Amino acid sequence: MTSPRRAPGAPGGPAAAAAAAAARGGGRGRPVPVPVPVPVPGAGLCPPPPRHCPRPRPLPVLLALAAAAAFLYAAWPPVGDPAGNAPPGGRRGRSEAELRELAAALEPRRLRETFLRPLLRPRVPGSAGSRAARQHLAARLGALSAGWRLELDAFEAATPRGPVAFASLVATAAPAAARRRLALACHYDSKALPPDARGRPFVGATDSALPCALLLELAAALDARLRHAARQGADTTLQLLFLDGEEAFGEWSASDSLYGARHLAARMAAAPHPPGGTQLGAISLLVLLDLLGAPEPTIYSHFARTHAWFLQLVAIEKRLHRLGLLRSHPREQMYFQPGPAPGPVEDDHVPFLQRGVPVLHLIPTPFPRVWHTPEDTEANLDPPTAENLGKILAVFVADFLRL
Ligand SMILES: [Zn+2]
Repeated sequence: MTSPRRAPGAPGGPAAAAAAAAARGGGRGRPVPVPVPVPVPGAGLCPPPPRHCPRPRPLPVLLALAAAAAFLYAAWPPVGDPAGNAPPGGRRGRSEAELRELAAALEPRRLRETFLRPLLRPRVPGSAGSRAARQHLAARLGALSAGWRLELDAFEAATPRGPVAFASLVATAAPAAARRRLALACHYDSKALPPDARGRPFVGATDSALPCALLLELAAALDARLRHAARQGADTTLQLLFLDGEEAFGEWSASDSLYGARHLAARMAAAPHPPGGTQLGAISLLVLLDLLGAPEPTIYSHFARTHAWFLQLVAIEKRLHRLGLLRSHPREQMYFQPGPAPGPVEDDHVPFLQRGVPVLHLIPTPFPRVWHTPEDTEANLDPPTAENLGKILAVFVADFLRL
């Protein structure tokens, strides 16, 4: 699945000035005023290929950059989104009983057997496996009661392998006319890799079958709450972006990667919603899930603009831990680390970020050990981690949407 690469340096739309500045400064969303990455604690932990890790720099430069980054990181407050949904706008202060109820809504067996397993097959764009995966996603959402509106962003694009048909699935919970959206995204395509020596195909369990299954599980776990919110005429609704063509067919480049995300971001930027705005502008926050499902992920905050929302994830993880609601979770803070990310990662969020969409990029650093190998299978997923992340995100989404 993912071939996340370095964050881009290209500036984008009007509200993207900060994002572009951040990208120039290493892609972590902090206005580091120099066009080089910030230091790399633990660079040796990064998986191959090493170009995914920031290049090491001479020590004095690193120290200066570290100091500048730390200062600016602390000094740059998060920017509230136009809908006022940035913290503390979301709901807070849930009771223990409410948290237990939300956590219990996550059904690990449904996540694994109903949502994940049908995705564990090659899903190369334009293939039969891709169509089957897409049909699975649509069917599962169609079986829910929250009134999901499904749209397909289908197109053909030139690739190093010739023209390929791509199709991203956009699902919007009722009321689709809601003024604002919280968008959760994953890529459902799998990387076109040959079978291994034993004939096993690459199925990309973390890359990104499990993240997509998690999106389905969140939709299912929050179904009744979403239905209720729709009846109340919610101002902000949930949108799921199942993106196609994240993976490069050849060597990762600006033109050979992120096919679905690039096409969809451009399309949404041109589609009116609500009156006077665009579908892209209606996204209060884009949360991109990638490479999740392996044990003990370490996820960093990549963008100062959304850092307050990231801190919500940190707080939710701690609170669920203290309530004993997370499985195989020995420390209260394991997944979400509030410090600066060790390096930029190019991924499906980039075309949206460049157009000014606030982004939370939930990707572990380092990448899973099995990344882009035949070992990226269900057997190497860590079920407690998947369940725990699902619980944390269920609370996060419920808080954001005030469900
Ligand atoms: Zn990949």
